[in-house]
Amino acid sequence: MGLFTRAVMTAADHPKVESLVTRGRLARPVVQRFVAGEDLEDAIQAIKDLNSRGVGGILDLLGEGVENPEGAIQARDDYLASVLRIEETGIDTTVTIKPSQLGVSFDKAGCIDHLRAIAAATRRIKVGIEIDMEQSRFVSDTIEVYRTLQPEFGDLRLAVQAYMRRTPADLQAMAELRPRVRLIKGAYEEPEAIALQKRSEITAQYAHLIEWLFDHGTDPGIATHDEALIEHARATAERAGATSGDYEIQMLYGIRRDLQTRLAREGFRVRVYVPFGSAWYPYLMRRIGERPANLRFFLRALAGR
Ligand SMILES: Cc1cc2nc3c(=O)[nH]c(=O)nc-3n(C[C@H](O)[C@H](O)[C@H](O)COP(=O)(O)OP(=O)(O)OC[C@H]3O[C@@H](n4cnc5c(N)ncnc54)[C@H](O)[C@@H]3O)c2cc1C
Repeated sequence: MGLFTRAVMTAADHPKVESLVTRGRLARPVVQRFVAGEDLEDAIQAIKDLNSRGVGGILDLLGEGVENPEGAIQARDDYLASVLRIEETGIDTTVTIKPSQLGVSFDKAGCIDHLRAIAAATRRIKVGIEIDMEQSRFVSDTIEVYRTLQPEFGDLRLAVQAYMRRTPADLQAMAELRPRVRLIKGAYEEPEAIALQKRSEITAQYAHLIEWLFDHGTDPGIATHDEALIEHARATAERAGATSGDYEIQMLYGIRRDLQTRLAREGFRVRVYVPFGSAWYPYLMRRIGERPANLRFFLRALAGR
């Protein structure tokens, strides 16, 4: 994790910064770039637009770090309502969920039950379901949640972070499941002892894990905007005798729209992660922390210029 990202994440934790950003309207243009909107209908519309370009959605109800059972139940019910709307509208999307939103930090069994209820609903309408990966303190529990539910829901996909030093061993331990993985670089600030920090090292580990997934996984989800890594996935797939239908390329709402459309036109299966909801602050800060150019744009917006 670079110094720049660390500085943004540290500032983002400050309550005054949070209130400046969330209360005022000045940050709205930046929020709108990365978040589909506050309401479910905004996300549905964004996914319809993606679908019209041949791109699928990955619906994400923003929210994380839920600290009480009521909050987790609310998140479950909101997801169940979203699944009904997906059914009614017939949009092409999967859904993705953060375990901390379903209360994994204080009640792992409850989190599993909530996720099971949502997975049963998505299975009924033949829609895929994915589990996001969050801060390092949640990794072991998240893998346990996945391992518990994977035998019941074979198409469950788990996000796995290339920057975590433990990831190759975690995947090896899951090899017998032929896991369905969304491979990401990793978006949270983590100490050097547990996560690779240098961009070159993270990229090398990502490339290695692409190869592992084509050998040992199912339907790899290559979630990156890094064109060199997408090219590496394409070459690895060819070597493995896989076709473009055997894996998926995933990107984030508001990032590299041109590349999303181009790959879809070339026949790749492309999905875009579409976050919506009012709890957008931490998500937005992670997107800003990834790119110095985003911070400049953001600060100009806050200054009203
Ligand atoms: C579908 C999807 C799901 C994800 N789920 C998770 C998750 O569950 N847990 C998790 O920790 N992380 C998740 N991430 C985030 C991921 O870990 C990275 O932080 C993020 O994708 C940026 O890394 P990159 O691979 O695109 O490569 P980078 O090297 O960071 O970026 C490559 C190029 O992409 C563009 N780009 C990347 N980020 C931005 C940005 N913020 N603003 C503008 N342009 C940008 C730029 O053109 C850049 O040159 C997800 C990412 C995707 C695509």
